[in-house]
Amino acid sequence: MRQTTFDHCEPVTDDDHAIRAALQDAHVPSLMLALVHLTGDLGIIRGDIRPSGDFFSTMGDPQCGITAEHQAHVRDRAVEVLTAYRDGRLRMPPSPSQETVQEMINFIIGQPVAPDYVQFLMAELALNGEDAYLQPADTVPDEVKRAFHVVIVGAGMSGLLAAIRLQEAGILYTVIEKNADVGGTWFENVYPGCRVDSPNHTYSYSFEPNDWPQHFSPQRVLRDYFSRCADKYQLRERIRFETAVEELAYDESQRHWTVHVRTKAGHRETLTANAVISAVGQLNRPRLPDIPGRDTFKGTAFHSAHWEHQHDLRGKRIAVIGTGASAFQFVPVIAEQASKLVVFQRTAPWVVPNAEYHSNIPAGKHWLLNHVPYYAKWFRFWMFWRTAEGLLAIVKVDPEWSEQERSVSAANEMLRIVLTENIKATIGDRPDLLAKAIPPYPPGGKRMLIDSGNWLQALKRDNVQVVTDPIAEITPHGVKTKNGLEYEVDVLIYGTGFQASRFLSPMKVTGRNGVDLHAHWNGDARAYLGITIPGFPNLFCLYGPNTNIVVNGSIIFFSECEMRYIMGCLKLLLENGHAAMECRQDVHDAYNVKIDAGNRQMAWGVTTANSWYKNEKGRITQNWPFTLLDFWTQTKTPNPADYRFL
Ligand SMILES: Cc1cc2nc3c(=O)[nH]c(=O)nc-3n(C[C@H](O)[C@H](O)[C@H](O)COP(=O)(O)OP(=O)(O)OC[C@H]3O[C@@H](n4cnc5c(N)ncnc54)[C@H](O)[C@@H]3O)c2cc1C
Repeated sequence: MRQTTFDHCEPVTDDDHAIRAALQDAHVPSLMLALVHLTGDLGIIRGDIRPSGDFFSTMGDPQCGITAEHQAHVRDRAVEVLTAYRDGRLRMPPSPSQETVQEMINFIIGQPVAPDYVQFLMAELALNGEDAYLQPADTVPDEVKRAFHVVIVGAGMSGLLAAIRLQEAGILYTVIEKNADVGGTWFENVYPGCRVDSPNHTYSYSFEPNDWPQHFSPQRVLRDYFSRCADKYQLRERIRFETAVEELAYDESQRHWTVHVRTKAGHRETLTANAVISAVGQLNRPRLPDIPGRDTFKGTAFHSAHWEHQHDLRGKRIAVIGTGASAFQFVPVIAEQASKLVVFQRTAPWVVPNAEYHSNIPAGKHWLLNHVPYYAKWFRFWMFWRTAEGLLAIVKVDPEWSEQERSVSAANEMLRIVLTENIKATIGDRPDLLAKAIPPYPPGGKRMLIDSGNWLQALKRDNVQVVTDPIAEITPHGVKTKNGLEYEVDVLIYGTGFQASRFLSPMKVTGRNGVDLHAHWNGDARAYLGITIPGFPNLFCLYGPNTNIVVNGSIIFFSECEMRYIMGCLKLLLENGHAAMECRQDVHDAYNVKIDAGNRQMAWGVTTANSWYKNEKGRITQNWPFTLLDFWTQTKTPNPADYRFL
């Protein structure tokens, strides 16, 4: 796996022509900052050429408003600097001071960074290759660490991260994974068109940058990335594949967990663990809708997360139920194969245009990422910023705003107008479709989906029909809607998402006093920081309750923060000779009051539109309603006062 920090840059050996050609693909703001590193000339970023920080005016413009003429000027300067660097005629100045780095951050985000963000952004930027999420445990003697055993449930992105961090710290661990390989989401979701919709340069471990082939790479690339991480960190020998955890039980007398697993051969085995890390994901158990007659269908039927590739879809009549994130990706692909495709839609998604969504990273940009010192650092940082807090303010409810049904604030209304215009630009000539494709709820009420035009173009095809009449039943031959029409099909595909709010299911989890976690939650999962639960000592969750995001960040960011916190907890235990720690009920409750209040202030909290963010009781159990800075700060290190030590 190639690193792209300065230390790991490949030497420049290319001729002037090749360098100039590569620069055509440059992200100019990142390039300008790389030139500052190479020359020490702050004049490069103190003139008129600068990116705009205005979200709306630069939406879809990666150069953030820098004109073509100005871009050419920067490229000319870059040729001079990079050829001098190649020829050894350039002596790089010392690393910039903290003050200068702050000025560089202000430049690339197009506005002065707020004082409370400085530490967070500096850490995320990690200019000198420092590991921002490492929680060193070197104060704990090795024999103490080796005598402590952690069981990690799941070997997806989060479980692998947990294993890497425990391994680095020298703490003994075992990973239990029900699948035959690592990767979780990216191992299981093999439907056509599956890809990440967080920019890949931020959807990667902070400590493991990658030379991604696309800005938003396909599933196979993600799967291979996590597989390579498992190899590189030599995790496989500690993972038990094709083994499922069925039950976790806390033994109060021993102050440890008993872990009951079922092997592929059907044998039940028992392990003991001083601590358990649940890394079972929120989106791992597919959800099939409760529609009458579901089992009567005589054709082929499957869920998108368990795609059955053995069926040739060419020339088939296909029904797709759902227009969520997965259907959004596979419908354009199968629309080209089907003779007829009927898409049953309950709620239309908001579509955010992004011309780069399906495109390869051009050769020149690869070259820059791998050869130009600090270019990759700033490029990742810029991506992080654009997808971090940028949109959050735009989906926050203004209580004074009167149009709450369709937008939640003036900025949200502006976004609604921009996104509506984009939909009209593609399907404005189809008024029948337009009425179905423009969501009636505020942008941010559900996850907005990124598209380079494929989705709307697919809906427009002659062989595609969008049906919004509610489904009444599934019949042996197709789908019948409430208005009595029956749509006969050969194949039925459920794009109906996951049992997201059933956290840690179907494992049985028993804590202190024999309390059953699922009975205790009663369908309404809660945890402190999404990580710890009163009554369940030394049980830690990754991607637990209220750690999902709608418009900002990526789940990897959250898991990295959570794992840093968990390592802090283990350190607290081991340094002080405690066997276990348990979150205080009052701390947990006060925290959840804040979470609920926060979610009520966001578009997804006020909308009446259906979404997987709400549990059966109507409470938002999935989402984090605050900034990334808030999560980063609150999970930096555990406060011992929040816990009882046992
Ligand atoms: C199609 C799709 C696209 C997505 N795109 C994005 C995106 O663009 N950006 C983003 O931030 N997030 C995205 N997500 C969310 C995604 O789930 C997370 O980013 C991330 O992959 C979660 O990793 P995880 O390890 O926490 O969970 P998972 O990847 O779900 O892994 C959980 C693992 O636990 C195992 N497991 C579960 N129960 C047991 C058990 N009882 N015993 C043993 N093993 C068990 C599973 O087999 C699985 O391997 C997407 C999700 C899906 C489904």
